[in-house]
Amino acid sequence: MSVTLPVFAIERHRLTTDGQGVTTLVGAYGCPLRCRYCLNPHAWNPSTLKVCKDMTPQQLYERVKIDNLYFLATGGGVTFGGGESLLHARFITSFRQICGRGWHLAAETSLHVPTQNLEQVLEVLDEFIVDIKDMDETVYETYTGQPQGILKENLRLLAASVSPDQVRIRIPRIPSYNTDDNVQRSVEQMKEMGFTELETFTYILPK
Ligand code: SF4
Repeated sequence: MSVTLPVFAIERHRLTTDGQGVTTLVGAYGCPLRCRYCLNPHAWNPSTLKVCKDMTPQQLYERVKIDNLYFLATGGGVTFGGGESLLHARFITSFRQICGRGWHLAAETSLHVPTQNLEQVLEVLDEFIVDIKDMDETVYETYTGQPQGILKENLRLLAASVSPDQVRIRIPRIPSYNTDDNVQRSVEQMKEMGFTELETFTYILPK
């Protein structure tokens, strides 16, 4: 039986925000976290989800291949987002088998997924864009509603398995939840683990 992806958004022609080159962002339903400032609550709250279509890897390929020439010319491709993209590791693996190695495949992830999901895509994805929230356990749990252990385990696995230039770590300053010192400590921990592509920024809250 073919695995399907519950897709709620397909956005074409994105530049630099979701991976290299021209990118198509594919948003899929489902997330184990409940971040207080989540910008995509419809990714985990079905009552706010207006459109969600289950697609097979072949159906998604047929839909996004219209940009094949852009992908090949710019080194771009498809970025899986959400929600939590790595909940759908089997789908991503099947999609790679269909699209081949020519497209750059990336995932936006919190890494808050079972370790076997990450293992499945280590050789399938070209880039991991990881929003770690904060490395302080109390801050993390207060902000996401979940304990942090699985994130640390998966960061260790990622650091040991792929090249540092395949991982972009995003470290947010989260108003009312962490401090500049927290952010700095998270940066230091990421450097100690061997990650080099680090991006700090401040969450901008909706008014
Ligand atoms: S990980 Fe992303 S989608 Fe999930 S709750 Fe947090 S901000 Fe929302």
